[in-house]
Amino acid sequence: MNSPSLEPITLTGHAQKEAWQNKVLPPVEQIGTEVWSIPVPFPGNPMRYTLSYLLLGDGDAVLIDPGWDTDAGLDHLTAGLRQAGLGLTDLTGIVATHFHPDHLGMAARLRMASGAWVALGDQEVRRRTASDDHDLVLRIDREELTLWGVPADRLAEVAMDLPGLIHLHNLADPDLRLTDGALVPAKGLDLRVVHTPGHSPGHICLVDEPRGLIFSGDHVLPRISPHIALDLPGPANPLAEYYASLELIAFEDEMEVCPAHEYRFTGMQRRVAQLLEHNRQRSVEVLQVLEDHRPATIWDIAQHLTWSRGWKSLQAFSLRLAVSETASHIAYLRAQGHDIDVPVTDPRPAVR
Ligand SMILES: [Zn+2]
Repeated sequence: MNSPSLEPITLTGHAQKEAWQNKVLPPVEQIGTEVWSIPVPFPGNPMRYTLSYLLLGDGDAVLIDPGWDTDAGLDHLTAGLRQAGLGLTDLTGIVATHFHPDHLGMAARLRMASGAWVALGDQEVRRRTASDDHDLVLRIDREELTLWGVPADRLAEVAMDLPGLIHLHNLADPDLRLTDGALVPAKGLDLRVVHTPGHSPGHICLVDEPRGLIFSGDHVLPRISPHIALDLPGPANPLAEYYASLELIAFEDEMEVCPAHEYRFTGMQRRVAQLLEHNRQRSVEVLQVLEDHRPATIWDIAQHLTWSRGWKSLQAFSLRLAVSETASHIAYLRAQGHDIDVPVTDPRPAVR
């Protein structure tokens, strides 16, 4: 919940907002000189679509966040490219803001079709794990969730399964790694990389100063607060990283923010203030639950927190997200010096 004293953002993606409210896919839009927004369906997810962005340079054509890999998604993307006068084979580069399948997903297939390079931030995990021992990865995942207090009868629902792991494993390995402050290597484009870890260990935003656009991936979205998970492998205190990244990207307030979901807006500084406040309130709530209920595990804490549709409505992947988000708050509060006696393992470093 945002405190009423915080300034609201300014909506610019009016057609997107309308489509969001009507629960339909927004239109393909040209949002600047040689820049297009192309929605790609995100099946079975409440976010419903990923906003993929096409930027045309001097003979180069770069796609940011190609979206979830399905045949229907590819059709939408192809139709969007056609509106910009391009075919699939004209793509020369693909940048994913982070490795999640609703962003990087279609990159492998597009690379095959076009020969375009695929780039990720140089701190991003390549996959969930580089280990080929799937049984080991799945076992460690279950051990971790058990330590966090997930009851045995909910474990199968919350834990990662083999198809999910294989799906992550098959995501495109990047050809290029983008360092903080670097320019995306495309002729005629001025796209600066800003490292913004938090939502994922190596999340990046892309800033197009000449056009006044910030491509924010899932780092900053207009409506929801991005999910910040304590995850294995991953950083020990992702929430602290997220706070630092929010301060970094809030360098001005006038540029148009082009997020990977929902709709465009201006007011990066205003939105960052809201997100900081939202997370701060969440930490306060966690401390209150610790005091009132003396919970023994992460799971016990999560049960007592407020969730938009209630704890009992959370199932499967959304339940996993709720538990790992609670864990990230515990890791943060501990690092702040709070003496919290619930078990959380120390995350291992992520495989790049
Ligand atoms: Zn996403």
